This record gives sequence, structure tokens and C-alpha cells, in this order.
Amino acid sequence: MSTEIDDAIPGAVHDLLRTLWTGGHAAYVVGGSLRDTLLGRPAKDWDLATAALPERTVELFPGAIYENKFGTVAVRTDDPALPEVEITTFRTDHDYADFRRPHRVEFGESIELDLARRDFTVNAMAWGAEPGEQPRLVDPHGGQADVAARILRTVGEPEKRFEEDALRMVRAVRLAATLDFAIEPATLAGISAKAHLVGHLSGERIAIEMTEILAASRPSIGLRLMAATGLLAAISPDLAAQRGVPQNKVEGEDLWDHTLRAVDGAATEPARIRMATLLHDIGKPLTMADGRFLGHETVGAGLADALLERWRWPAAERQRIVALVRQHMFGYQPSWSDAAIRRFIAKIGPEHLEDLFLLREADHIGSGREPDAGGLDELRARVAAQLEAGVALDLGALAVDGSDLMEDLGIAPGPELGRLLDWLLDRVIAEPAVNTREGLIDLARRRLSSEGAL
Ligand code: ATP
Ligand code: MG
Repeated sequence: MSTEIDDAIPGAVHDLLRTLWTGGHAAYVVGGSLRDTLLGRPAKDWDLATAALPERTVELFPGAIYENKFGTVAVRTDDPALPEVEITTFRTDHDYADFRRPHRVEFGESIELDLARRDFTVNAMAWGAEPGEQPRLVDPHGGQADVAARILRTVGEPEKRFEEDALRMVRAVRLAATLDFAIEPATLAGISAKAHLVGHLSGERIAIEMTEILAASRPSIGLRLMAATGLLAAISPDLAAQRGVPQNKVEGEDLWDHTLRAVDGAATEPARIRMATLLHDIGKPLTMADGRFLGHETVGAGLADALLERWRWPAAERQRIVALVRQHMFGYQPSWSDAAIRRFIAKIGPEHLEDLFLLREADHIGSGREPDAGGLDELRARVAAQLEAGVALDLGALAVDGSDLMEDLGIAPGPELGRLLDWLLDRVIAEPAVNTREGLIDLARRRLSSEGAL
């Protein structure tokens, strides 16, 4: 086993370990990369733990950066696949005051103490050596056996560990979903008992974990665990309220089942599609009346906006997701005229159409239908044909602008001019052939004179 690990560790990481060992310091590969190596998965980032103090590590690796109070030094490597490795001095954590983070971090004496502060047994292994000794796997908490059984188990008593840092509960769910692990019963019971504490966490930290859950091949594994343990109710009561709301879509399934099917079936790229899918029906529980959900997309857009704001989601992405929630109920009919297709394009915005179609595909999958049900492929093709024809969709594409109208028709700048331009755009969307300078000036003149006659 030890040689397997040895072989999986990139050369650049070996170089770092060797430098620390030769410098007289214990040094180990720790955490997620070791877990992933034992799973036979490619490791994401290689983290090292060492007895060397940060100042000493910086001395050993000229150019290394040390600018935090957690004892973590960032070292650059020559391996382009691995630009930066974090080397952290052995730590022990103390006094968790606010369920959020260690109050005080102390540099620890040993790799064993460092591993004891880590969250789950599978994350609490190390591979490396004390100076002068042969490298070996250090596994005081039975992590290797838990990796083999694909089980997540806290290091130590679950409730105590979750009280120390409530984020560990969300991490458990995230790791279960991304690694396809089961959460061991006592650990799961600990989450149910302490779920309410996630209310103390900052939105950003929850958002990072949510992003990873949604990127998993089956996010429903994580989302179901969140609902079952009460984490979801503490994070989003509106999503939690979807459980038990009736839906006549898939036999025997409720609204929450629909959401989960949809999220599992949604495209993973761009990442906002899965978030929009998770949130698309968030307004339904609040709007349910007589078996219908009138206006749920508008109410849902407001709820989605508030949730993403709480999670400090980047504003531009937040707005796109909220717009998708608001627009997800569009209803295409083959009887739509080409002008109707162009109005649809102009309303949604050409750059947002593909997102909306991807959300609709996910919604169909969630309803047990074919992704392209309801003529979606036909709508896509008709939209593409219009876009290919280069039709005018915004004021910038009109054959005249404000100053043309001012010159030719003698109107003054102001709101009236703006309204006239908008009206011309509507006319062009209805009938692209009128988008010539003469055509538009003529239309504008006639409109002005008929208005004058009123
Ligand atoms: P990933 O593969 O997603 O990076 P990871 O387990 O490596 O997963 P990181 O956030 O990179 O997650 O953390 C690195 C290591 O630090 C973990 O493997 C774990 O040992 C420890 N750790 C991270 N967060 C916590 C926490 N909240 N409490 C205790 N230990 C933690
Ligand atoms: Mg990691």
C-alpha cells in the first residue's frame, strides 16, 4: 500500500517532502489527496503537514508565501499541473467559540495531534516520515478501512465535533455526494441533532459546499441527506418546504422529488444551470392554492435572489440565475409566428437563451418526460435560424439612431425620442424588412403625424 501511495505522489510533491526531510523536519502528505489516492481517484490538491515552523518553511523554499495566521505556507512548484502546494505546520485546535472556526490555533507537537483535529477518518491519514525514518502511512483513526468501505465517520464524537465547527456537517454531505460514500449511522445522527447550528455559518462557506454538491454526478444524494437531517431546513426553509407538496408529474413523487430528478438530470456546464434548476420551483410551496402554483416563478425569483444574496453569490451570476427562475415558465407553441420567435429572443436576450433551454430540459427530465418534449428542439432550431439571419434585436441594430431622427424629423432629445426608437424596434422585430434608413424614417414620420392628429 505504501508503495502505491509513493507512486501516486507527483514528483514535485516528493521534491518538497525531501527538502523538508533533509532539512531535519517531519513532513507528510495529508488530507483529501491521500484519501483520493487510496480511492484510486486523481487527487485535486496536495497538502503537506510538517513540524517545521512557517518561517523555517519559507527559508527552505525561497519565494514561498506566508501571509496568514494558520501556519500555511504556499509554495510554487515547476509542475504546471500543480502550480501551488500548501505546507502547513502541525496544528492543534482549541476553544471553538462560535460553531464556526477554531478560536485559537496552536502549532502542534506531532502528526498524530494534527490528524486528531481533522474532520473525518478518511481525511485524517498521513503519508510521510519523521526525519531519518522510512515513509509510512499514519492512520490512527481507521481511515483506510473506512475508505475501503466508503464510509464517512467523524474523528471522535460526532456531536462534539459538529459543535466545534458546524461546517463539518455540510462537508459530510458534500463528501458523501461527491465521493459516493455513506455517512455512518452515529455520524448521521449527530448531524440530525446539530443541524440547526449551520444557521451560524457564513453564507460563503455554505455556498462553496453547495457548489460542490451540485457539481456531483448525482447531487440528489447530498440534497436528500440535507433534507433528511434538517440541514436543508436550516439553510433554506423554502426548499425544505417542497417535501410533501403534491405534483402530478411522476407517479408517487412530490415536488421535492421533481426538483431532485431535475437537478440530477441538469447539465453540469455552465454551473449556474444546476443552481437555477435547484431553485426553479422554490416559489411553489408559498403559492400553492387549489392544486396550482400561480405566479410561483415571480415569487420564486425573489426567494432565489434572497438566498443567493445570503450566500454572497457573485452578483452577475446571481442575476442570471434569478432571471432563469423568473422566465422558466415560457410556453412555446408550434403556431408561434417568426415574429413571435424574434420577440421571445429579444425578451430573453440572445446570450441567455441556451441557459433557459438547458433549464427547460432539466425541468422535463424532472417531470419524467423527454428532455426535448414540448417542441423544445423545434424552438431551438427556429431561434437559431433567426439568429443566423442576423435580425435586429436591440436598438443598436436599427438602421437609424436617435440623432438621425432628430436631424430628419426635427424632434428634440428626451423621453419621446426614446419611446419612438423602442416602437421602431418593435416594428423591426415584427418585420425585419423595414429595417432600412428610409423605411424607418418613413415609419417614424407617419407615427408622429398620426400622433399629432390625435
Ligand atoms: P477536497 O478533495 O474537496 O479538497 P478535502 O477533504 O481535501 O476535500 P479541504 O477543504 O481541501 O477538503 O481540506 C483539506 C483537509 O483539511 C481535509 O481533508 C481535512 O483533513 C481538513 N479539514 C478541512 N476542513 C475541515 C474542518 N472544517 N474541520 C476539520 N478538518 C478539516
Ligand atoms: Mg483539498
